[in-house]
Amino acid sequence: MGGIAYYNGELFDRNEARIPLSDRAIFFGDAVYDMMIGEGGNIHQADEHIARLLFSANTIGIKHRYSAEDIYDLLELVVKSSSLNSYRIYIQLSRDSASREHSYLSSRGTNLLITAEEYRIVRDIEEIKLISTEDRRYRFCNVKTVNLLPAVLASAEAERAGCDEAVFIRDGFITECAHSNISILLGDTVYTHPLSDVILPGITRRHLLLGALSSGFKCREERFGIGELFRADEVIVTSTTKLLRRATHVDGAAVGGRNLSA
Ligand code: PLP
Repeated sequence: MGGIAYYNGELFDRNEARIPLSDRAIFFGDAVYDMMIGEGGNIHQADEHIARLLFSANTIGIKHRYSAEDIYDLLELVVKSSSLNSYRIYIQLSRDSASREHSYLSSRGTNLLITAEEYRIVRDIEEIKLISTEDRRYRFCNVKTVNLLPAVLASAEAERAGCDEAVFIRDGFITECAHSNISILLGDTVYTHPLSDVILPGITRRHLLLGALSSGFKCREERFGIGELFRADEVIVTSTTKLLRRATHVDGAAVGGRNLSA
């Protein structure tokens, strides 16, 4: 896997980059990140992803010196240096480099990691299968931190079951998927979980809602359960890297397939 990496001012071949053990992302997952895709010089929705990265950092008190413009310039530098035409970019801001102490009050500086690798953007609406599983994450889901263990375990559980994504259920309601948001179309209305600390404010979710509204659908940010998922005309799974996907099965039973034209 080729590509390029930037770490604290230096550029590397992606396979050659080294991160010091003292980076708090390693011992504590004390870091926030974001993921973007792009083509040529166009980093898709870069301003929204940068704003979310800064929101994530701010929400958990990571103090840093980067403005949105600084980050955009660095993303541009990485993309240009990579010479990639179709790519995905990962950006991670960790709190500090220090010896392994939980509290961070003596933190002095942040670490910024950016990687770009080749990525083929698929615009066709893919059909996918889901499993449902308990949402075992804690309540910082609106912050994009690198603490992804429950999502990692659920994704493996989905793959083991021959599925593509895991849909999380918390207190009887569907929150989101392991690495996507989920919405349903019921009649002329798109339903999706309201923004809160139990879902990521997905950028593709936002664009789905904007697109649905401008196409004459109603949108309701309301919680729904597994029953509604099975009654839905369409089950729509959204994320930056996979764009919009349609779920055809949940736990082996057919869902949706009654409205979206592929
Ligand atoms: N929810 C979770 C938990 C995610 O990890 C992601 C993407 O990484 C999403 C939703 C989708 O968000 P976006 O559309 O901004 O990629």
